[in-house]
Order: sequence, then C-alpha cells, then structure tokens
Amino acid sequence: MIIISACLIGLNTKYNGGNNIKKVFVDFVKHRKAIPFCPEQAGGLPTPRYPAEIVGGNGYDVLDGKAKVINEKGLDVTKEFIKGAEETLKLAKLLHAAEVILKSKSPSCGSSLIYDGSFKGRLIPGPGVTTALLMRNGIRVINSDEY
Ligand code: SF4
Repeated sequence: MIIISACLIGLNTKYNGGNNIKKVFVDFVKHRKAIPFCPEQAGGLPTPRYPAEIVGGNGYDVLDGKAKVINEKGLDVTKEFIKGAEETLKLAKLLHAAEVILKSKSPSCGSSLIYDGSFKGRLIPGPGVTTALLMRNGIRVINSDEY
C-alpha cells in the first residue's frame, strides 16, 4: 500500500478548492493500491486557502527552522505545514508504506521543484515540507510528473 496526494485522484483538496485529477492515479485507489491523503488539510488548514510558498529555502530548511512557509497574505503557516508532514509520516508508518506518490511543485508535496517564495511563478530545485520529512525517514517519494 502506498500513499498518494489526495488532489491527484480528484479530491478537491487543492488551495483553490480544485484538484489535479489524472486517471492513472484514480486507478491506483480503485485497485486498492493507494490511500489518498492531503498534508495541508491534515495540518489544519482550510480549503479553499490562500496559496503558500516556502520562503528562504526548501522543505529541509523548514524542518530545520531555517526557512518558513508564508501564504499569499503574508501569514506564517509553517506550523501547519510541519504538522501536515508529521501526520503524513504517521500514516506512512502505519501502512508500512515504502513509497508515496506526491504532487509536483507543491510546498508540501513537491519533490524536485518548488516555488521560490516570491509568488511570481519562479521555480527552484528542492523538496516541499512533507516530501523532505518522508525522505528523511527513508520513504521513497515519487514525483507525480513521472506518470
Ligand atoms: Fe495536493 Fe499535496 Fe497540495 Fe494537498 S498538499 S492539495 S495533496 S499537493
């Protein structure tokens, strides 16, 4: 059993109340190979919510207290993002999930690229907060763009 970003199977968990549905991911859940989960909702954030970006680094830096997650209105949501990452790790351990499939470019779920904190659509290399915590715990994170 693996975990998959909830928005990838059509659940409306995205910041704007939408989703990123793709049939291949829906099939994973239909065939009971994956469980959908949204770190940002699990961290206590509402949906819809203001978009957020990591400012001053990447997901590892957030976990280490060297960067923050700030939303479009300037509110610090770092605590919620870390809680969401911890809840995802808890579920991964419960399921003995060796790998997860997470949505690309998200400040939580991104794996190879994230937005740079300027809210100008610029990407930088690095993982989101949830991805960083899972990888630190030996869980393989697959980028949704690989499908
Ligand atoms: Fe999708 Fe992850 Fe964002 Fe939730 S936090 S909406 S699962 S990309």
